[in-house]
Amino acid sequence: MLIRIQGGRVIDPGRIDLIADIIVEDDKIVDVIALDPAKDDKPESQVTDPVSQTIDATGKIVCPGLIDMHVHLREPGHEHKETIESGARAAAWGGFTAVCAMPNTEPVNDNCQVTELILRKAARANAARVYPVGAISLGLEGRQLCNFEHLKTCGVVAVSDDGNPVMDDALMHKALAAAKTLQLPVISHCEDLNLVAGGVMNAGSVAAELQLAGISNTSESAMVARDIAVSEATGAPVHIAHVSTAESVAALRAAKSKNLAVTAETAPHYFLLTDAAVKNRGTHAKMNPPLRSEKDRAAIRQGLADGTIDVIATDHAPHSEREKAVAFDQAANGIIGLESAVSLSLTLVHEGVISLSELIAKMSTQPARILGIECGLKPGASADITIIDPNVVYDVDVNHFKSLSRNCPFDGWRLKGRPCLTMVSGKIVFNAAEECKDS
Ligand SMILES: [Zn+2]
Repeated sequence: MLIRIQGGRVIDPGRIDLIADIIVEDDKIVDVIALDPAKDDKPESQVTDPVSQTIDATGKIVCPGLIDMHVHLREPGHEHKETIESGARAAAWGGFTAVCAMPNTEPVNDNCQVTELILRKAARANAARVYPVGAISLGLEGRQLCNFEHLKTCGVVAVSDDGNPVMDDALMHKALAAAKTLQLPVISHCEDLNLVAGGVMNAGSVAAELQLAGISNTSESAMVARDIAVSEATGAPVHIAHVSTAESVAALRAAKSKNLAVTAETAPHYFLLTDAAVKNRGTHAKMNPPLRSEKDRAAIRQGLADGTIDVIATDHAPHSEREKAVAFDQAANGIIGLESAVSLSLTLVHEGVISLSELIAKMSTQPARILGIECGLKPGASADITIIDPNVVYDVDVNHFKSLSRNCPFDGWRLKGRPCLTMVSGKIVFNAAEECKDS
């Protein structure tokens, strides 16, 4: 089976950016053929094998399959919010060929039975790949380390207690040292619970106006500083999840200037929204870490622009109406992100904050590098490919989402650019053209 992806702008960050055809045979990329627009190349003349399917990518971006390294798929335990299948489908519809599933399920992914269940269900979903992330501590309780070696053998690509911080400094030290010997990335949810002290939204004038308990920036940045120190002491890499504050960005920038093995991600809501969104979006603007001030939002953008923040991830956190249609201080934290992330992140390109190639890197090759997984458009590589239409303008409508949940503050936003085809291992798992025909 041969597929030709024809005439798109092929971007493999740092390697190629040209108009080209990509030839896929079965599950692999076999060729990337540059087209010379001046010569009006007829690509048919360059390949002798019969092509069984042609995908017209004229005017589109063809890039390595996007990877969302931070999602919550809720299965096992909370299948009313999301399942592995619905989450993997939502990912494919959002242009992602792979997602990393955080371990805060019920039971927790701190053992191989859960890891293997996730992999089994993901294989059946016929959508995006799902890479399980194992827990750092048993039951996410922050007391006893999991057996990282065992988890890695069963298929986890990283470890994290995400949802909870590792409050015990000594345990984090042990975790980083143990993970280093196994070359297993550690993803840290940075939050000092003593400093959070019951806060439910960003500390500041909006919290004061709404009479809600505030969460200080220090609750995040103090823990970022701790993790940088432990990384420096152990020489072990650490990846900081969902960076939200200016102080965290400054600390990461300083760490990177010392060449420490520290990487970081943020999510679209932190570079697009501020705590003011709580006033009109209510609990759909409640997440952890919380939406911050305009100063923080600007610092996150600066961190993305100068490379301090390596990755854009969604922190896709599905919740049902029942967990969100309650008083703000009682509501669950988090929003869904898989099906809006590409369009939302493209605003950074439209506004000149980062280049298209930088954006694609932050959503594909950078997470792949941190996780140690294959990614790219080289001949011989797995045919994991995303095609993006950079120009289509549309309104976000959560009712069209494949996710089982609807907790998205961007519902109704008019956005420019969206994924139109997702290919995993040579198989088309999402095709906007077909989707439009069906509906
Ligand atoms: Zn987290």
